[in-house]
Amino acid sequence: MPRPALADMISRYKNQKIEGVTEITVKFITLGCKTNIYESEAMAELFRRSGHEVVSGGGPADVCVINTCTVTGTGAGKSRQAIRRAKRQNPGAVIAVTGCFAQTEPEAVRGIGADIIIGNDGRSRIVELAEAALAGARSDLVDDIMKAREYEELPAAVAQSRVRANLKIEDGCSNFCAYCVIPYARGPVRSRPLGNITAEAETLAGAGYREVVLTGIHIGSYGKDLKSGMSMIDVIEALDNINGIERVRLGSIEPPIITDEFVDRASKLKNLCPHFHMSLQSGCGGTLRRMKRRYTPDEYYRAVGMLRDRIPDVSITTDLMVGFPGETDGEFEESYGFCEKVGFMRMHVFKYSVRKGTEAERLPNHVGERIKEERSRRMIALAERMRADFYKKYDGAVLPILLEKRQNGVYHGTTPNYMDAYVKAAAGLEGKTAEIVFSASGESEIINIGGRS
Ligand code: SF4
Repeated sequence: MPRPALADMISRYKNQKIEGVTEITVKFITLGCKTNIYESEAMAELFRRSGHEVVSGGGPADVCVINTCTVTGTGAGKSRQAIRRAKRQNPGAVIAVTGCFAQTEPEAVRGIGADIIIGNDGRSRIVELAEAALAGARSDLVDDIMKAREYEELPAAVAQSRVRANLKIEDGCSNFCAYCVIPYARGPVRSRPLGNITAEAETLAGAGYREVVLTGIHIGSYGKDLKSGMSMIDVIEALDNINGIERVRLGSIEPPIITDEFVDRASKLKNLCPHFHMSLQSGCGGTLRRMKRRYTPDEYYRAVGMLRDRIPDVSITTDLMVGFPGETDGEFEESYGFCEKVGFMRMHVFKYSVRKGTEAERLPNHVGERIKEERSRRMIALAERMRADFYKKYDGAVLPILLEKRQNGVYHGTTPNYMDAYVKAAAGLEGKTAEIVFSASGESEIINIGGRS
């Protein structure tokens, strides 16, 4: 039987169907990473294609989809809160919960209460399940993600801005780093067929996007599940010739992918951005070993050197974790010194947080909050200094940027190596490229509009 609160909605829904007028309204609440943003937009596109309306803002909707995250304890906590808030603020709406928190903690989601629970597989069925839920049929689709073998095709890519779109190329990770819950949430590596990736890039180019960001859970593993011997560099090469796409930017990668062959092929491409987000996590060999990362600091440094030798103006950005179990003061100092030696353009600093069921949960000598806080503060200060040093090298240089978003008469744009630039210019230039005299600390100056970025 439908819940009483749904009765009105169901009759409205049925009447609307019969009259063929407005369909249901759907709202998305998305937590977590770029892949989640991509997938929410893809599900929104499925609703639109079925004639339903996707709404934004704080207003009510008939269906509320919460796409959850569990990468950290904070992500999981925020996901719980988001489900509760959505239920409170949308009384009578169908509540659909999907994503990593739903996949790893379905019991918790069931406890809070949801009409639809989908993990990280089966999202292509979201519209039919939402329509059924409006008629009172609940669904619980969480299955063993470790059995997933096929990439689940969803229909659309997403705009980060009106000029840059995420383009998903794979799902899953088979690395099982000691602290990470993602392999349990996302399952093994499933690579997207190359033809579907290039077709989506063409669609994006046709829609006016100039830059694509290759997104996934572990994009460096692209091809590992395929028998063709393909790898990520084949994808990047295929995207180099899509008419209208001027920039291809990589999501997060790791050092093992930076081989002579990779750098050789990458250095010949005209569209690949000279910006590599290469996840470090720690600059101390002992910590990396306990983390079960698959490289040493020396290997990392060698990879950075290869990129810097062969790719002009390259910038290296990273993720860095402090307070992993057993991280002593000495290990932290080693990590700090290594980061300083590399000289990152940007560094995203995290404090370790326990994820249930991971190997790191069972490791001895967990680090106290106060120490984690202090280490994080020092690393963030270092990150800021390294960023300023990198920017200073380009002060006064003539650089190309892609004009992205205009606010109060000032555009934000990015250089190919992902430095932020701000320029004053007339409205209507989003998506255009411009040559600027770069200012490391203030407003840059446009000297030419048009041309390639
Ligand atoms: S590579 Fe490691 S940190 Fe990254 S998703 Fe896989 S298991 Fe998690």
